[in-house]
Amino acid sequence: MNILVTGGAGYIGSHTCVALLHAGHAVTVIDNLCNSRAEVLDRVQALGGRTLRFVQGDIRDRDALARAFEDGIDAVIHFAALKAVGESCAQPLRYFDNNIGGTIALMQAMEAAGAQQLVFSSSATVYGQPDRVPVKEDAPLRVTNPYGRTKLVMEQLIGDWCAANPQASAVLLRYFNPVGAHPSGLIGEDPRGEPNNLMPYIVQVASGQRPQLRIFGNDYPTVDGTGVRDYLHVVDLADAHVKALDYANAHTGCETLNLGTGKPCSVLELVHAFEQATGQPIPHEIVARRPGDVAEYWADPARANALLGWTAQRDLTQMCADAWHWWSQGGGLAKNNKEQDS
Ligand code: NAD
Ligand code: UDP
Repeated sequence: MNILVTGGAGYIGSHTCVALLHAGHAVTVIDNLCNSRAEVLDRVQALGGRTLRFVQGDIRDRDALARAFEDGIDAVIHFAALKAVGESCAQPLRYFDNNIGGTIALMQAMEAAGAQQLVFSSSATVYGQPDRVPVKEDAPLRVTNPYGRTKLVMEQLIGDWCAANPQASAVLLRYFNPVGAHPSGLIGEDPRGEPNNLMPYIVQVASGQRPQLRIFGNDYPTVDGTGVRDYLHVVDLADAHVKALDYANAHTGCETLNLGTGKPCSVLELVHAFEQATGQPIPHEIVARRPGDVAEYWADPARANALLGWTAQRDLTQMCADAWHWWSQGGGLAKNNKEQDS
């Protein structure tokens, strides 16, 4: 199929493009590079063994979208979004404009081009603090910040589009905590400035860029008092997108699926797994809880298992080893480039 990948130069998009190229799809990427670099796409093509088409532009720009669709697109995987929770609280209008405005423009371009299949990046953040774990897709939705609200509104607007278009097909993927990197060390997560998320912070402590990890609270009602999440290898996540695309191609309507391992992991457990996998010590101190944090949640991935035939294959050791390999090789390279930019 001819696939348009919005945000394909980003962290999850780049790994998904590699998987799409391996699966034999023709790939067009549209990305405005607001949180990524064009050189990532050179690496994607090297890893995928084939070329892709790149349109540098914003999904809110109708001319750029028209260029992206001009070769005929069968299906869209929609990653392009701003994703920092704290920033979304400070700049809600920017988040609504980029994420929701961008999605509306994209879907209008899909309609104009006759593309009727969509795979969408949603997030477990739409569940907020769940009543029960593991979390199933029918759990109550309780967004707690503007970023989460943009994801929920985008889910709803895609659902309404499917309801109005009987031939349309959409798969809404609620990711739990994507971590790790491609095992080649060529692509991975490259956060700007001080990382908000746990795994990028750990790798930067391991590499000596940051003195120690601050663990936000050890008084939660969890296995060891620290926050519990469901960490998922980004290559497993990328594979799920290829399967979701096959599913969208074979069905109509709108389906919502959790993507996680189904295995809970505390902050301290992740720190110990990283130390064991890499041999790098992670000095850490316990500090106050981070405002807005949820004590624990992890996925019930049974629905994705059943409908996509997908199960996460890679364990915590692999996630840590690959995250470290990337940061101590390619991640360091990209960081140096970035420091020259600023
Ligand atoms: P990322 O920032 O690495 O990738 C997003 C890409 O989209 C970037 O390359 C950015 O330049 C591009 N982009 C943003 N706005 C754009 C616009 N208006 N036009 C064109 N390009 C634009 O983020 P990621 O971690 O790869 O996340 C991908 C998607 O997955 C996002 O929608 C995010 O909300 C969602 N998600 C991510 C996580 C996570 O932990 N990484 C968890 C749940 C959901
Ligand atoms: N965390 C931490 N120190 C950090 C970053 C995160 O202790 O520097 C904790 C955080 O409190 C949470 C877990 O690690 O319990 C995962 O946080 P992350 O931001 O990666 O994911 P999210 O909270 O968005 O699921």
